[in-house]
Amino acid sequence: MRRKRAPFNDKRFIGNTNSNEVHDLDNEDRYGECNIPLIRDSHVKTFSPDTHAQAKREGFDNCAKCIGNSKH
Ligand SMILES: [Zn+2]
Repeated sequence: MRRKRAPFNDKRFIGNTNSNEVHDLDNEDRYGECNIPLIRDSHVKTFSPDTHAQAKREGFDNCAKCIGNSKH
């Protein structure tokens, strides 16, 4: 589920700079296991362009719940 408020700004891909994981909010885990509400706003990173490829270029690991193929 995308969030309109800052710092999410309706973006699809959100990086957690604390865990170094990227989440796909269009495929957010329906049981809440992505724990998006627990990410501090100061740890929320958006991408430009708003793509998974850009998140990978910036060195983020996949969330195992909403993207899969996590390295951890
Ligand atoms: Zn996730």
